[in-house]
Amino acid sequence: MIDLDDAQRHVLSRISVLDTVDVAVVEAAGMVLAVDVVAPAAVPPFANSAMDGVAVRSADLAEGPTTLRLVGTIAAGEIARETLGAGEAMRIMTGAPVPEGADAVVMVELCEFAMAGAADGAVGGAVGGSAETVTVASSVPLGNHIRPVGDDVAAGDVVLSQGALVTPGAISLLRTLGLSTVSVVRRPVVGVISTGSELVEPPTPLGPGQIYDSNRAAVLALVSEAGFEAVDLGLVDDSEPAIEAALRRGAATCDAVLSSGGVSMGDFDFVKSVLDRIGDMTWMQIAIRPAKPFAFGTIATEGRRRGEGRPIPVFGLPGNPVSSMVSFELLALPALRAMAGHARPDRPVTTVTAAEDFRRNPDGKTHLPRVVVSAAEDGSLSARSAGGQGSHHLAAMAVANAYAVLPDGPGVRAGEPMTVLLVQPLA
Ligand code: AMP
Ligand code: MG
Repeated sequence: MIDLDDAQRHVLSRISVLDTVDVAVVEAAGMVLAVDVVAPAAVPPFANSAMDGVAVRSADLAEGPTTLRLVGTIAAGEIARETLGAGEAMRIMTGAPVPEGADAVVMVELCEFAMAGAADGAVGGAVGGSAETVTVASSVPLGNHIRPVGDDVAAGDVVLSQGALVTPGAISLLRTLGLSTVSVVRRPVVGVISTGSELVEPPTPLGPGQIYDSNRAAVLALVSEAGFEAVDLGLVDDSEPAIEAALRRGAATCDAVLSSGGVSMGDFDFVKSVLDRIGDMTWMQIAIRPAKPFAFGTIATEGRRRGEGRPIPVFGLPGNPVSSMVSFELLALPALRAMAGHARPDRPVTTVTAAEDFRRNPDGKTHLPRVVVSAAEDGSLSARSAGGQGSHHLAAMAVANAYAVLPDGPGVRAGEPMTVLLVQPLA
């Protein structure tokens, strides 16, 4: 048996980052920047109001309560036609350009508007030559509620570095800089194959000894959930020609291929014999439970010219349904993340309190029971078993949101701290 760390290192050492593509900014969520992003212009591009209110000359308000003459209104998207003179104010909306002459904004809540010289009964705006005024009770500092040019980003700033994740926040920044496309590492295209002559596709009725193929749908979902492009390469029988055809098709059309089943010691485990023939494989017994059997290697693909072919990574996941998902999480996902350019391929661990005993016997392996992690009212996290812990126990897998990580030894007692890999939101 080899340690999980060593297996992960072995896989990552043979993975390379995919090539770079330009994609629409709106499509780049979850991808990794291939270049530094330099701001082509300042943000904001013009001084604008941070509030709905009135634009003023701050010196006019220095002496306490002051009444100013309102000379216009500036909405977002408009510009004032005139310079603001002494004793004047303009209504201004959030985001509207600050007019020439103004150097502060007073928020609308601190303004008292009135009609000066209005005839009795006049309602609404400036009627019959009457003028509107605004009275402001106290002084405001220079620049009050004004967002200056470049307050957020100066032209030429490196705003995002190569290797950064394109988050929704990053997308907002890229758009505000006026960028429509961005250069990112390509999203891996990941093919998924199920192998096993006992497997059938729902809703076909089961014949004697048959079961439904659950791994392919689960692994396709895991691939999509990680933000990669999942390709269904189908369900194949335990026959060498069928397995070889599916693996070759995957290697020719995908950046990585994941198969499940056929990698253990059974008489019909043909994935092993096919991959040994067409790939450069390492077969491993990893010191974890579940998901001990695992295979990793590459299949060389033919380029259009000699020497052009790329080796396509192949992950031989175990067939047991829970094992295939654990193996994906611990071995395939970090590698796919590395291909997608993520600087940190592994999932961060979280420490929680064991809500019950998680006893185990020493056997040289790390155990990964499926657990439900929930938050108490005070925010503290605790984990309970999700149910049956066999590698075929999908009822527990379906409600689990984390894998506990129990190092070799006697396990953990209720109330003790425990490490988990949180793979779904808290319960
Ligand atoms: P194998 O590694 O092919 O020997 O499979 C181990 C166990 O997992 C067997 O009980 C298989 O029937 C089961 N199994 C393999 N592949 C799948 C699958 N795609 N969906 C559900 N069960 C599977
Ligand atoms: Mg099988």
